[in-house]
Amino acid sequence: MSVLIVGSTALDSIKTPQAKNPRLLGGSASHAAVAASFFGPVKLIGVVGEDFPKRYVRLYKRHRIDLEGLQILPGKTFHWSGEYEANMNNRRTLLTELGVFETFTPTLPRSHQASPFVLLANIAPSLQIHVLNQMQRPKFVAADTMDLWLNIALPDLLQLLKRLDAFVLNDSEAHQLTKEDNVFTALKKIHKLGPKYVVIKKGSHGSLLSGPKGFFICPAYPLHKVVDPTGAGDSFVGGMMGYLAAAKGGIDQNIRRAMIYGSVVASFCCEGFGLTRTTKIKRQQIDQRVKELERLTRF
Ligand code: AMP
Repeated sequence: MSVLIVGSTALDSIKTPQAKNPRLLGGSASHAAVAASFFGPVKLIGVVGEDFPKRYVRLYKRHRIDLEGLQILPGKTFHWSGEYEANMNNRRTLLTELGVFETFTPTLPRSHQASPFVLLANIAPSLQIHVLNQMQRPKFVAADTMDLWLNIALPDLLQLLKRLDAFVLNDSEAHQLTKEDNVFTALKKIHKLGPKYVVIKKGSHGSLLSGPKGFFICPAYPLHKVVDPTGAGDSFVGGMMGYLAAAKGGIDQNIRRAMIYGSVVASFCCEGFGLTRTTKIKRQQIDQRVKELERLTRF
């Protein structure tokens, strides 16, 4: 089954203590779509400007991502710039230029409206709602977010939460949303806002699922060197949704393994700038790391 993914399609300028890389292919939807593409068909909804390099379009195509819902409009592509501290965890946003995203209100192609799996990757909640409104009874809807939307668009986000099957957020966002220090109490509060499944991402410490079958603690793949963690969260949720859409059986039966796959794709993402590493791997390498994680967590 296919996954429809909406989110940012961006040019990212990323600075780490080691290197500086301007205008890489980035955006929440780009990372999530490439991650999901290892498992099955992906339909991308986004917008780029006329400055968007053709080689990035070719890169999407190499991953067999359906681009019918990617608009190219006069103006500039969303440009985001961030700088990491030496620990590679703390990040400062240097610049956000919305460009063509400022007026983006997509009308979904008819063929996209019936996608059974929908991933509302990080973007303004009003835009996530706009896309969800056009879907015909999807089987499973997940959304990601960021601190910015908790700060400036909380009412929209709360509306969206009521309509989600799964909500994915990081631990600091869970704290910001619920004001709870204890993650399990925070999870309880987030379920009350709507979603049946809540996944809390904890960066290099993995992630935590709370769902109808209880909790699941998902490890991160142990990496000795992180080159650039930009997009790791998007790769995680993209990989998870891609796996879920491709798997036989119900959500409860597959969601734990889906998180493991997401975690592994995210580990590859961290090993290169932007999407440079993720776009070079093969499915076999993902399966290999999943096996390693299985060995590491069995007891
Ligand atoms: P992550 O590292 O998972 O937080 O995701 C980083 C990605 O989010 C980058 O590729 C950015 O282009 C994208 N991004 C940054 N700010 C925003 C924003 N305000 N809305 C949507 N996407 C954003």
